[in-house]
Amino acid sequence: MPGHAQRVKGIDPIRLNREIAYKGDIGQRRRNFCVKYIEKKKGIIKEMQADQIRAAAKDGETITCPKGCAYCCLLYMQASIQECEAIVYHLYQNESALATFLENYKDWRKKLRKNGDIFKKCAQSWLDKSADGAGEEEYKKFVEETKRYQGQNTPCPFLYNNLCLIYEVRPFTCVGTAASTPPEWCNPSNPNEPKIYWSRTSAVIDKSFYYKEIDGVVLAFMPIMVYGVLEDGYKMLSIVTGLKDLEKKALAEPQVKAVIKNFT
Ligand code: SF4
Repeated sequence: MPGHAQRVKGIDPIRLNREIAYKGDIGQRRRNFCVKYIEKKKGIIKEMQADQIRAAAKDGETITCPKGCAYCCLLYMQASIQECEAIVYHLYQNESALATFLENYKDWRKKLRKNGDIFKKCAQSWLDKSADGAGEEEYKKFVEETKRYQGQNTPCPFLYNNLCLIYEVRPFTCVGTAASTPPEWCNPSNPNEPKIYWSRTSAVIDKSFYYKEIDGVVLAFMPIMVYGVLEDGYKMLSIVTGLKDLEKKALAEPQVKAVIKNFT
């Protein structure tokens, strides 16, 4: 068996990682975890949307986001590793969504690189504003960085024909962004300031995982993390979760070894 099953010369790692994703005992637990996670997430999404409607109603307003409006898909969107795993599972079940995302991803990533990968500053300022003792200044910095990110005018690679390819399992950060002003006000070039109702959920603060509990919360820039799991499979999952033996244990499962051995 090759040392790193996910990267073997001449073999498409995305295809191989898909083949082995839910094989063996760990794979089975991985699949069950994703199925349950998606079920639970549906309920949380409903609660978040109800919160937004209630918050807007308190101000005598209504949420105005129509289907097909995608201005908030220009924003920096984070997700937990559990959410990213559920998105990977969803993609494996939805052939055309997976193919479209893979097609969009390389161009999107190239554009971000060309702009100096400013998303890294969003991630850092998010951590800074969430740290103990953080205040107004850290929050302002975060807002500044996310505006800069939005200013790149580079839509999320999960957006296709102005619709989200992973709508049912989209990140909580996407769900939690809703406006009560005319949709075009959310266009970064519109001079009006949109009124946004942000709703948050404690579900992102999650250490549960199918292998072992994670020692801390793992949040990441969602499209990059999802692509990383598709391309590097268990290797990526071991690195980001800090569960060092996950890759070794998963690849040592007889069913996984058999797939790798016969893979061409
Ligand atoms: S995941 Fe979907 S809703 Fe969220 S930014 Fe991407 S396309 Fe938009």
